[in-house]
Amino acid sequence: MVGAPGCLDRKPSHYIYFEVAATPVAKSRFMNEIDEKWMRRAIDEARAAGELDEVPIGACLISPDGLPVASGGNRTITRNDPTAHAEILALREAAQKIGNYRLTGCVMYSTIEPCAMCAGALVNARVERLVYGAADERFGAVETVFDICTNPRLNHRLTVESGVLADECRALMQEFFRSRRSKST
Ligand SMILES: [Zn+2]
Repeated sequence: MVGAPGCLDRKPSHYIYFEVAATPVAKSRFMNEIDEKWMRRAIDEARAAGELDEVPIGACLISPDGLPVASGGNRTITRNDPTAHAEILALREAAQKIGNYRLTGCVMYSTIEPCAMCAGALVNARVERLVYGAADERFGAVETVFDICTNPRLNHRLTVESGVLADECRALMQEFFRSRRSKST
């Protein structure tokens, strides 16, 4: 009866181990841990931006070998620069460090769904994968308002994963706007 359903205890242990290790569930759990680890780095950047009274959005960029290359948080107000979004700052720093405007094989982590400018920059930089936390109902240009990162009419597409630590990412934004409203009244 070896190998029959419900008789796992009769199988050699290495076979059971192999079966478990090879399932997509085990792989995705490993990927989730990595995604959460780097999303936490992006959340740290978001928090630091919020402490400067900037909209609390953070990003970090990971190399194809899985190493952090650059990170950033929003600085539009402190730098008087409408392009100083978290993702743009991380892309600029990474391209300088790598010495190439193409960031092939890199992964971008962003706490909030990127806007049209940042989504366009991710395509131009040939970033391979985008992982973001919470969706942006007003400006999200990846899945919500536009689909810039996956649009077949563009010459490069990213694989996109959303919802990683979304509650934490969203809570930072909600807290920020709530406290700004209460300051202005
Ligand atoms: Zn942006």
